[in-house]
Amino acid sequence: MREFAEKEIRPHVREWDESQHFPRELLPRLAELGLMGVTFPAAYGGAALGLTDYVVIMEELARVDASVALIVSAHHSLCASHINLAGSQEQKRRYLAPLARGEKLGCWSLTEPGSGSDAASARTAARLEDDSWVLNGTKSFVTNGHYADICVVLAVTNPAARTHGISAFIVEAGTPGFRAGKKEDKLGLRSSDTAEIIFEDCRIPRANCLGKPDSGFLDSLRVLDRGRIGIAALAVGIAQAALEDSVHYAQERKQFGKPIGSFQAIQWKLADMATEIDAARLLTRRAAALADRGNRVTCESSMAKLYAGEVAVKAASDAVQIHGGYGFLKDYPVEKYYRDVKLCTIGEGTSEVQRMVIARELLGRL
Ligand SMILES: Cc1cc2nc3c(=O)[nH]c(=O)nc-3n(C[C@H](O)[C@H](O)[C@H](O)COP(=O)(O)OP(=O)(O)OC[C@H]3O[C@@H](n4cnc5c(N)ncnc54)[C@H](O)[C@@H]3O)c2cc1C
Repeated sequence: MREFAEKEIRPHVREWDESQHFPRELLPRLAELGLMGVTFPAAYGGAALGLTDYVVIMEELARVDASVALIVSAHHSLCASHINLAGSQEQKRRYLAPLARGEKLGCWSLTEPGSGSDAASARTAARLEDDSWVLNGTKSFVTNGHYADICVVLAVTNPAARTHGISAFIVEAGTPGFRAGKKEDKLGLRSSDTAEIIFEDCRIPRANCLGKPDSGFLDSLRVLDRGRIGIAALAVGIAQAALEDSVHYAQERKQFGKPIGSFQAIQWKLADMATEIDAARLLTRRAAALADRGNRVTCESSMAKLYAGEVAVKAASDAVQIHGGYGFLKDYPVEKYYRDVKLCTIGEGTSEVQRMVIARELLGRL
């Protein structure tokens, strides 16, 4: 993974970031390496590896370009994982297999302009008409939205039942009434695509309901339990890159006639960064290992995501500080880590939401 990322991604990172270029040309290479279907069964085109393997892949991709890691994450951990978790055999054959083989790209669409942390207050609605579901509404912040061939979308089927009245659907790009809207102009992760998705009387076959009707929201929480472990690994990857660049710069940059790494203030920053990153990595790998053994990991995945996200934001900030004024320039990659990393305390549930999840696991619903 490291060799691949260094050789085939590293040379393009800055240009892709500056031009907001979605690296479509990289997707066949990612597919060839099995990265689009790491944890899915071989029978459905996957590499049949575990989340423990997947987190190493995420970390190594994010260490070089977190945008590429996010593209893989939304495709693999959200879209394809939801189909793997809840899909029928026919849905897996038809949709999971081409996703896992990387022949098709996926996106996953839960968030709406008015419902983020409170995802159960979604308004996009699906009604059954004859033998079709008809979808109407607007989704937001959809990673890969403009480029995906297959979209898993959550829509309300029974408004009174809140979390027990939301279903998941598989929608193919090109279906009339389905379109990607505005492309978001972002602080970081600029070569990943973030789109609005609009449904206007979008008619899909009845068979494209994913999992049991009304149970899509509950399934999506299980998808997020695993997905958050991937975002934690993505955070660790950015933090690791920030640390490596900082160590190198501290050895090279001289002030007061000495390398800045000889000053205790810099040494302690580096020591704290290294220790916290390792702790974040271990929390992430623990959650992945427990998930691979079939355990419920709601608490562990939120702990990993919370801690890794916060540690990575701090590491990227300290890396800019260690680079001084040069950390503020595009000439060094640390300014990009500083921009990219903020997603890690927001996407797949903010840090506040992770704390809510952990506290609920400790206390139950009060
Ligand atoms: C780059 C990017 C990619 C994304 N990709 C996807 C995707 O592919 N699919 C998808 O469905 N979504 C995606 N998202 C959406 C993401 O999951 C949401 O942005 C996130 O869940 C937060 O929702 P929000 O932005 O509406 O913030 P809000 O929910 O409005 O939160 C605003 C602030 O209030 C805080 N807050 C909210 N409720 C509480 C509470 N009860 N207690 C304490 N604090 C609270 C939050 O923590 C936050 O600090 C993406 C977002 C980004 C930025």
